[in-house]
Amino acid sequence: MLGLMQNQPMMISSLLTHAARHHAKGDVVSRLNDGTIHRTTWFETERRARRLARVLQTLGVAESDRVGTLAWNDFRHLEVYYAAPGMGAICHTINPRLHPDDITYIINHAGDRVLFVDVSFAGLIRQIAPRIAESVRAVVMMTDEAGMCELALAPGMRLRCYEVLMDAADEDYAWPRFDENTASALCYTSGTTGRPKGVLYSHRSTILHAYAGAMPDVLGLRAIDRILPVVPMFHVNAWGIPHSAAMTGAALVMPGRHLDGASLAALLHEERVTMTCGVPTVWLGLLQHLRSSGEKLPTVKRIMTGGSATPPLLVEAFGADYGISVEQGWGMTELSPVGTYNAPKPAQVGLSRQAAERHALKQGRILSGIDMKIVDGDGKELPWDGVAFGDLMVRGPWIASAYYGDPPESALDADGWFATGDVATIDPDGFMEITDRSKDVIKSGGEWISSITLENIAVSHPAVAEAAVVAARHPKWDERPLLLVVPRPGHTIDPAAVLKVYEGKVAKWWLPDAVVVVPELPHTATGKLLKTALRTQYRDYLARGAEGPDSTHD
Ligand code: ADP
Repeated sequence: MLGLMQNQPMMISSLLTHAARHHAKGDVVSRLNDGTIHRTTWFETERRARRLARVLQTLGVAESDRVGTLAWNDFRHLEVYYAAPGMGAICHTINPRLHPDDITYIINHAGDRVLFVDVSFAGLIRQIAPRIAESVRAVVMMTDEAGMCELALAPGMRLRCYEVLMDAADEDYAWPRFDENTASALCYTSGTTGRPKGVLYSHRSTILHAYAGAMPDVLGLRAIDRILPVVPMFHVNAWGIPHSAAMTGAALVMPGRHLDGASLAALLHEERVTMTCGVPTVWLGLLQHLRSSGEKLPTVKRIMTGGSATPPLLVEAFGADYGISVEQGWGMTELSPVGTYNAPKPAQVGLSRQAAERHALKQGRILSGIDMKIVDGDGKELPWDGVAFGDLMVRGPWIASAYYGDPPESALDADGWFATGDVATIDPDGFMEITDRSKDVIKSGGEWISSITLENIAVSHPAVAEAAVVAARHPKWDERPLLLVVPRPGHTIDPAAVLKVYEGKVAKWWLPDAVVVVPELPHTATGKLLKTALRTQYRDYLARGAEGPDSTHD
């Protein structure tokens, strides 16, 4: 027997119509390219999104067409976020920090019909235009008439102005209802693991993720909150914040392209932001600025950090010196992206400051609605003892089942689990802690060594600015850890002294076989260590006869 409740499809447009109707005056604030502040409301955003849906129609965008964006976090990008899926098309956010070849590949693979482009990326478009002309029919510069630039495009591609198109459109559009499983947005993984792969979200997955993300033990958003996503809207839906904010009526404050410590501090302060979200590098920049300027951020209660592991310094310094709680989330493009969040359970209430700071370094517990487990190399589930580490698997309604263009369910195992590519422990309270990426873990004599653990210890040496541990081929043990270190400016690194810091912290057989001092390490467009490049470069380092002391597994 079926239930007798109304069967209304979950539509992304309904988030915006809710915000416009019930939080009409709620602020939507953007810092524009020239540094000035643009103010609007949830009411006005919904009105303009309807107008933009008409613009999309006049550009020939139909249901299921991909609408690409190359844009910062601002009100126009927010309008595309709602207008494209609202009319049944797909909002495809593109990471402008990727290499132009990757951007070209992604636009062609997605088959973007129209591109919405911030004027700061005009040069990029000029460069790639001839190579994307097969699919892209129009490039809409996200500015007004005065802000338009000259831009020669390929034959068949038209250059349009956002505000000119908006002025010519009317607002009589009514948001349609359709199957909630309809595709709504497309986002490509940043390619740390080969060619970028497209993750295709649906209206249903987006709404469920927005609910889960807004819960008290995650973003904990309320209508009186003012949230600033530093995480770009081109990086996995800005962690769902544009959706969760509309759902709760929280004010949305967007930093545009101004992501340095001083600009962020000013915006956080002037706009009375209560919560802000972004990657650790951004918070290190903010901390540096606060320390040198002596400024405080009295309105900011919480910083959510994710995307890579939280440096202990962030938790300690923001907590002790600024009264701001640094909270960690974990996720990935394939998870919409949020999978876990580190919020306390009763067992963590009343922990000593030191124990709480250590606990904050865990990636957190699973969001309600999805599930996780860790398995060994044979797929056998491992215990939640905080010690055993294995491949982290997840499943749930906002987790990808296949990549764009691949056969259905091809990203899942036989039981419907998705392998995250991360290696983790889970403690008895259900807190997950990443110990590695599966491809980065060093498989020495059949046992696993965590590269992240070794890197974290290396950077505790005062002369080490950054460290990477990669697997090098070894005739006896198959793989052995190789440590690459970058010296701090003005320091020289003594490899023996670096190896000494491992004493008593890891088993002897975990010790790196060699330490290589390098001037710098390669990074991806999202700031992560590019281990693929390092692996290729150093795979045969030990085989070339540069190994250190004979390693044993005692
Ligand atoms: P990509 O995998 O293409 O680099 P994502 O942004 O999807 O792009 O990155 C997801 C990965 O980032 C995760 O699988 C994990 O390895 C890493 N990651 C995300 N959040 C955290 C975190 N809080 N701590 C450690 N690693 C994290």
